[in-house]
Amino acid sequence: MKTVLRILRYVLPYKRQLGISSTAMVFSVIFNMITVILIIPFINVLFDPVYPTPRPVPPLSLDTIKAWALAQMNNAMASTDPVTALKWLCVMIIGAFLFKNLFGYAQSWSMAPAEQGIIRDLRRQLYEHMNRLSLSYFTEEKKGMLMSRIISDVQLVNDSAIAVVNSLFRDPPQILVYTVLLFVIDWQLTLIAFVLLPVTGFILAKIGNWVKHESDRLQETNARLTSVLEEGLSSMRIIRAFRTERYEIDKFGRENQSYYRTFIRIKRRRDLAAPITETLSVLVVVVILWFMGDAILSGRSGMSSGVFVAYIFAMLQMMQPLKYFGQTVNHISQGLAGAERVFGVLDIAPRITDRPGAVDIDGFHDRIRFEGVRFAYDTGEEVLRGIDVQIRAGEVVAIVGPSGVGKSTMVDLVPRFYDVTGGAVLVDGRDVRDITVRSLRGLMGVVTQETFLFNASIRENIAYGEDVIDETRLVAAAKAANAHDFIADTPQGYDTVIGDRGVKLSGGQRQRLSIARAIYKNPPILILDEATSSLDTESEVLVQKAIENLMQGRTSIVIAHRLSTIQRADRIYVLDVGGVAEVGTHEELRARGGLYERLYTMQFHL
Ligand code: ADP
Repeated sequence: MKTVLRILRYVLPYKRQLGISSTAMVFSVIFNMITVILIIPFINVLFDPVYPTPRPVPPLSLDTIKAWALAQMNNAMASTDPVTALKWLCVMIIGAFLFKNLFGYAQSWSMAPAEQGIIRDLRRQLYEHMNRLSLSYFTEEKKGMLMSRIISDVQLVNDSAIAVVNSLFRDPPQILVYTVLLFVIDWQLTLIAFVLLPVTGFILAKIGNWVKHESDRLQETNARLTSVLEEGLSSMRIIRAFRTERYEIDKFGRENQSYYRTFIRIKRRRDLAAPITETLSVLVVVVILWFMGDAILSGRSGMSSGVFVAYIFAMLQMMQPLKYFGQTVNHISQGLAGAERVFGVLDIAPRITDRPGAVDIDGFHDRIRFEGVRFAYDTGEEVLRGIDVQIRAGEVVAIVGPSGVGKSTMVDLVPRFYDVTGGAVLVDGRDVRDITVRSLRGLMGVVTQETFLFNASIRENIAYGEDVIDETRLVAAAKAANAHDFIADTPQGYDTVIGDRGVKLSGGQRQRLSIARAIYKNPPILILDEATSSLDTESEVLVQKAIENLMQGRTSIVIAHRLSTIQRADRIYVLDVGGVAEVGTHEELRARGGLYERLYTMQFHL
């Protein structure tokens, strides 16, 4: 119930559209009813020209009203000649159908913004929320889950919200109107019909769900097929090198076959659903026809042929909304499941938020301090167990150590990608948790090994996030990053659009672009995770030079792998499991003959 109320909160902003839509629906239903009623004089004028005179009945009962209405119709017919009457009836039937459809269209027209709006709002909220969630949330396996929340589950919620709204505003008025009409015409018969109709409606809904269930399976199969294809296409080089073409082809073949089989099953179910539906409907109608026929033949019913046909017609018209109404139940349960998954994500509280009273800082002047910093990821043991490090403004500090000891983790604490689990990180004497996240991160440029370029122009990639781009600064940044020359060689220069993940550029070029991005941002503090990937010597020199330019005049914390960076660092912190093992300059540490010396002589990848 809580989930339902929560879904309704997304529906509520569209109450105007829903209001218009349901009003239009009511009109559409009324006109539809008129078309059914018009059948009565139409048939009567053709086949039943001797109208039964209404029997005298006590005043104001259902029967008197009915008789009165019929008499009115008959009188109207009798006062004109049959051909003219027929003509008028034709015009009226066309008119009524026209209005019914106009209002029907108005209903779906005004409903469309609500339908799509709910999807849009939920997706936007989810994506915004994801942008606030802790980085630890975005592991590889969770990415797929988040994608499916935002794409398929939101769709499910939407379908169910629409189904609920429809089942409140669209189907019940129709069912109600026809029920009343049927009862007015002949309540005894209608009682019989009402035993049969829900049963039929239920069976029809079941059949609908039966087909739908298989359609969901098809979607899953389709997703698997796409992912195998995606994986295969993006690893063609590896597949060739390992000669696993056969294996990959078989893998694809299996999914392809599974799609084929599922599709055939669906098609057969769909094909079966139509005749079953029809047979069932006809069965119901025939049973009712039998009762009606019997009543008329035995003289128990004085129904004219027009009323007879109108009755059948009204009943057929009622089948569709009954069927939809039945299916709604299924929609709701699916949608609720989807909604719970979506709300599950929305309910994860973002951990890195501004504390009340957090202040903006507008510059970096003194030092960054790690004071007894401890940190553990959610998953396991403590990675950092009491780190004390000091970085003064203007210094270059290198962090080295064996892989997996926590170097990246440590530098991630400065821009608050994660919060410490013990101790504190201070910037200019202030705990980073007391500084607004926005102003804190504004002080920092982060260049990682994984150079991520967006599928946009080189210009937009360098001036990432800036609305107004300063051309001179842009070119200066590119030049300082040794990127200007190769950019100038690309077909459209700075306007060249980089393909997916920058595939059209070499590794060194991509690194230089991300360095240019950091230079353009011009932050006082630089956090650099040097790439260990082997670049060719020429690239290496260009990247190295670019990094030196980038570090110029900044406070830099570098996870260092290159000897040149390490040698020029003001201080090197050597990290071993859990904490800082040694501190000093290159020469001091070499002379000590400890862990650093061992790493160095082993030619270990520092
Ligand atoms: P380094 O940069 O020194 O190679 P990291 O800081 O990347 O080391 O990792 C330190 C330890 O923390 C490793 O044992 C790693 O497996 C673990 N780790 C890193 N990131 C995460 C994460 N998001 N969730 C859980 N554990 C992590």
